Amino acid sequence: MTSFLSTNWREAAACRFEDPELFFPLGEDGPSLRQIEQARAVCHRCPVMRACGAWALRHGESDGVWGAMTAGERRSLRLDRLPRRAP
Ligand code: SF4
Repeated sequence: MTSFLSTNWREAAACRFEDPELFFPLGEDGPSLRQIEQARAVCHRCPVMRACGAWALRHGESDGVWGAMTAGERRSLRLDRLPRRAP
């Protein structure tokens, strides 16, 4: 069983045989959108997508597509988990 805490999940990663640059677009809009969608397509057929995304969130990975999430999406998720300040 793949643990969300270990890094053994990398051995089953669908991106092992892909060009790593596919997962590191220069931005998150404009011409980068097509690249992001191609990376997501690989992630969506990856057997360890959840473990990968959890690892990236836990380690604050600030660049690239991990677990089908862009850096901006992960940042938004982390901010959503922060306690809200009183107005
Ligand atoms: S979810 Fe995507 S980035 Fe993560 S291991 Fe799988 S293919 Fe690679």
